[in-house]
Amino acid sequence: MKIIMLGAPGAGKGTQAKMIADKYGIPHVSTGDIFRANIKNGTELGMEAKKYMDQGLLVPDELTVKILLDRVANEDCKNGYVLDGFPRTIPQANVLDKALTELGDQIDFAIDVDVPDENIVKRMGGRRACLSCGATYHIEHVPPKAEGICDTCGEKLVLRDDDKPETVQNRLNVYHEQTQPLIEFYEAKGVLRTVDGTQDMKDVFKSIVAILG
Ligand code: ADP
Ligand code: AMP
Repeated sequence: MKIIMLGAPGAGKGTQAKMIADKYGIPHVSTGDIFRANIKNGTELGMEAKKYMDQGLLVPDELTVKILLDRVANEDCKNGYVLDGFPRTIPQANVLDKALTELGDQIDFAIDVDVPDENIVKRMGGRRACLSCGATYHIEHVPPKAEGICDTCGEKLVLRDDDKPETVQNRLNVYHEQTQPLIEFYEAKGVLRTVDGTQDMKDVFKSIVAILG
């Protein structure tokens, strides 16, 4: 099963993608996590991506498409995957579409996690991330067992630089301009499904399972 998560930054794509990956036994592929891991390890790709990420801008398509296609060519993706944060532009979606068509394959579902902008701004300020294992928490909705420490790997949790309020508004503008058109793109392909992302995260997941079966 090949699934794409759509939705604004902070809509809960990552939270739901992890739950989907666990239940259906497919890898969770997040381009944001790949970039953050590269920044943490000080790679050239990381340095380049950081310039854009810190401003709430998208990393250029050429760079992003390459890392994504390399990742999904891995053996662990052969039975499917859940993409979180990719595609984010129409050109990215076209490249993915072409790569899949060449393999005689296609996306099964594009799930739009729908959350209005007002809720997003609140959520992002409360998000805490583990840059080591990619786990995500929320100071009110999903607090870690020990304040500021990742339950999974014991690393210190951080407020991502791009989750600071001044950057969140930029990211929302970029989302509306460049990413939202993907909703129509996948609707035209007949694979779009929309869930109400303002529900409790367990209920969002129930809605997704009802779609995926
Ligand atoms: P995205 O991957 O779309 O950027 P995340 O999954 O990281 O978003 O979620 C953003 C923040 O909101 C996180 O702190 C997460 O714990 C919290 N969150 C996710 N889903 C919900 C929900 N349904 N209700 C409330 N908070 C949520
Ligand atoms: P995320 O963790 O998905 O919220 O992504 C964090 C940041 O990484 C984004 O704001 C972008 O700067 C960058 N990024 C992640 N995925 C992509 C993508 N598909 N295209 C361009 N930039 C991306």
